[in-house]
Amino acid sequence: MKHSQFSWPILIWYARPLEIPLIGLRYVIVSGGVLSGLGKGVTASSIGVLLKSAGLRVTSIKIDPYLNSDAGTMSPFEHGEVFVLDDGGEVDLDLGNYERFLDLNLARDNNLTTGKIYSKVLEAERRGDYLGKTVQVIPHITDAVQDWIIDVAKRPADGSEETPDVCIIELGGTVGDIESAPYLEALRQFQFRVGRENVTFVHVSLVPVMGPVGEQKTKPTQHTVKELMGLGITPDVLVCRSSQPLNDETRQKLSAFCHVHPNAVFSTHDVPNIYHVPLMLEEQGFCDILNIDCEKTGLLDEWKTMAHRLDELREEVSIAMVGKYTDLSDAYLSVIKSLQHAALAVERKLNIDWIEASDLEDDNNSEAWSLLRSANGVLVPGGFGDRGIEGKVLAAQYARENNVPYLGICLGLQVATIEFCRNVLGIKDATSTEFDADAANPAVIFMPEISKTHLGGTMRLGSRPTIFQVDDCITKRLYGGSDSVDERHRHRYEINPDLVEQIEAAGLKFVGKDESGQRCEIFELDGHPYYVGVQYHPEFKSRPGRPSPPFLGLLLASSGQSLP
Ligand code: GLN
Repeated sequence: MKHSQFSWPILIWYARPLEIPLIGLRYVIVSGGVLSGLGKGVTASSIGVLLKSAGLRVTSIKIDPYLNSDAGTMSPFEHGEVFVLDDGGEVDLDLGNYERFLDLNLARDNNLTTGKIYSKVLEAERRGDYLGKTVQVIPHITDAVQDWIIDVAKRPADGSEETPDVCIIELGGTVGDIESAPYLEALRQFQFRVGRENVTFVHVSLVPVMGPVGEQKTKPTQHTVKELMGLGITPDVLVCRSSQPLNDETRQKLSAFCHVHPNAVFSTHDVPNIYHVPLMLEEQGFCDILNIDCEKTGLLDEWKTMAHRLDELREEVSIAMVGKYTDLSDAYLSVIKSLQHAALAVERKLNIDWIEASDLEDDNNSEAWSLLRSANGVLVPGGFGDRGIEGKVLAAQYARENNVPYLGICLGLQVATIEFCRNVLGIKDATSTEFDADAANPAVIFMPEISKTHLGGTMRLGSRPTIFQVDDCITKRLYGGSDSVDERHRHRYEINPDLVEQIEAAGLKFVGKDESGQRCEIFELDGHPYYVGVQYHPEFKSRPGRPSPPFLGLLLASSGQSLP
């Protein structure tokens, strides 16, 4: 076990002799105040980038104080996208931020929910583990939370076998919420369990800018810090979301009223792109207050290059996203990020044209159709249920017939196959049993092994291999020529194996299949510049600087550049 030695100067006042041995890990605990949507996850991930740039091994735990066991049964319309991990965990989208920013592969246990903690405690109670005691939120739930953190924080997440040096713990919700109270109590106790000098509390808050002269208001932050302190937690660092950089007066005032060192008050103000966030924290001295050398690995230079390259892109490429929840872009967060990673790689400024699929259904001259016609490429992302399906089928048909680059992800592969069966094979009523359980001619069917009664965690989930069936094809080349690729899945339906021969004979080739050689994973259309469908979700493994191959192909083709 290797741990880097570094000290936390601003925490020296708190250091006191401990009787319990230190476990050697350090914890950065990120809470949020005032309101949600301040970018707590991005702030926490950006702190991770600074730690990583100093050569430290980082992992993360996201705490979601809701009663659901996981995000799998939650609507992306209400909660944003469900992120899928290698182990099949269906988790909060913030884990996607950590994976992308820190290049980690997290596991389902890195997302702690109230549902998981209560299930664990209740199971222990039924086993009789509590030996006649009354089982209570304090100490049983709060102890279980701390045990969970200590256990998971030790697990390597960066592909190495080595224990992380630092675990970033992000508490979802806002301080003051009833449901987050047991976690704050657990974290308050936690600082004594692992040693106060091993914990840094970061509180993310809001500084609104008001009035004609743009006055920076500190009162909301004062209130949320007061609330946090009332729960026994004194923040070491304040990160204030604001439209402008904090001025010295605001910083001093926040320091005085919130009992935080003036050098530990940071602002995350508006920046042209997200890669600037770690850089902005570093410029304000974040690495100094942690006493780490952020220049150590050169990682921060890579972020600087990415941030500035992105700012300088001028030539545009537009991708039509034909989806369902288009008024909430968080529902497609990883898809957007993957498009951005690929656009940067092909040096184009990305323009996403959001098209509500059902708007394509009735009027061929609608605004939705003109957006679709003006786009350089079309993407139909994953989805569930039948709303907008016919619009997606029309988008797939439009792209196929007009040689417009197309990427269909999961449902996007399924609708394109349905379209092909209808309009090329002449199976006019081809559909999926997801939309018509009694369909006479299903092109897409329910997978035999999937539960019909339980929705939570029962899909075909997580990382599974796809084996290329041909020696050479576009997607195989995009994946660097490997014979098989591991990507993450989340689906209940599959292409009807009975139709595969007929579909392939007409030119839509299933070039990638699962290990059994039966289940279709990737299609490509003969003679089309880029018409690709994938049953898996490549968006979950895309990284800045390492774009996902199917997205890279879409962006290359859409910007008129040659494919490998
Ligand atoms: N609803 C389809 C299925 O379950 C597609 C799922 C998806 O796009 N993630 O197979």
